[in-house]
Amino acid sequence: MTTTETLTAPDELEPLGSEGPVAVKQSWEQVALALFIVVPFLAVLAAVPVLWGWGLGWHDVVIAIAMYWFTGHGVTIGFHRAFTHRSFRAKRWLKVLLAIAGSMSIEGPVIQWVADHRKHHRFTDRDGDPHSPWRYGSNLRALTKGFFHAHMGWLFDLEQTSHQKYAPDMLKDQDIVKVNASFKWLVVASMLIPPVIGGLWAWSWAGALTAFFWGSLVRVSLLHHVTFSINSVCHVTGRKPFKTKDKSGNVWWLALPSMGESWHNLHHAEPSAARHGVLRGQIDTSARLIWLFEKLKWVSHVRWPDRRALAARAREAVQPPAPAPSAA
Ligand SMILES: [Zn+2]
Ligand SMILES: [Zn+2]
Repeated sequence: MTTTETLTAPDELEPLGSEGPVAVKQSWEQVALALFIVVPFLAVLAAVPVLWGWGLGWHDVVIAIAMYWFTGHGVTIGFHRAFTHRSFRAKRWLKVLLAIAGSMSIEGPVIQWVADHRKHHRFTDRDGDPHSPWRYGSNLRALTKGFFHAHMGWLFDLEQTSHQKYAPDMLKDQDIVKVNASFKWLVVASMLIPPVIGGLWAWSWAGALTAFFWGSLVRVSLLHHVTFSINSVCHVTGRKPFKTKDKSGNVWWLALPSMGESWHNLHHAEPSAARHGVLRGQIDTSARLIWLFEKLKWVSHVRWPDRRALAARAREAVQPPAPAPSAA
């Protein structure tokens, strides 16, 4: 009988050879990448008490959180659950608004995002996955390298996921095509809205400047790293209450900043479900908003998780295996 371990072990996966689309980075580059991820974050945290009162005020905090929340849910509810996985159908105005909000997270144009993510589900943690931490193998060195590739390195891959192959439905939707084509203007809007609001609110250039720093730069950078962590952290660590054929895990400490996306083990177990945090106490603000939208009749055909399917996938429910009838 096949054990759970053999279903999920990444060791059997063929690491990409030198013919793979990604050139092998030098070790100094890996160190630089690590510094690039960790140092700015620590610097931001350290700056908060120093800057409070003159370089950072509650206006900036409100603007940054509002923009984070708006653009972040554009990705989680729009790009991910609505467009990639068809977890529900939104009214046209809401669909367009979600596509705009997600684009303003500056994670690439919507059609490219959807194509990449569908390919990730098609080949999760196998050859062909655009961002698996396991692509170079499972020893510590290979995994460290793979982790950074899954986090950010893959964004620099020259090979682009085919839109025709992975997102033909998106190419047929004229609303989506228009938002996709407007990406660069939405990036500009995403960068300019915080300083305009901050400047008007404080009625000063200083107010515009601090709002630009916190509401534009810090907000985008933080959301990027949280989103990237779903690809890296949630495929390396986390609890795995449901059976999947990949290494996806649930990471509780990312639940709030990722707006429910870090319940990634359930997501890979049932990708089209509109709710990822299905167990008791699992915060999933994206699912809560979809629930609200459904009550307001702004969305329909919501695919809520199927209790029976979940029970069948729950690890606890499948062990121990029943003895064969012929065994005496
Ligand atoms: Zn995944
Ligand atoms: Zn997904």
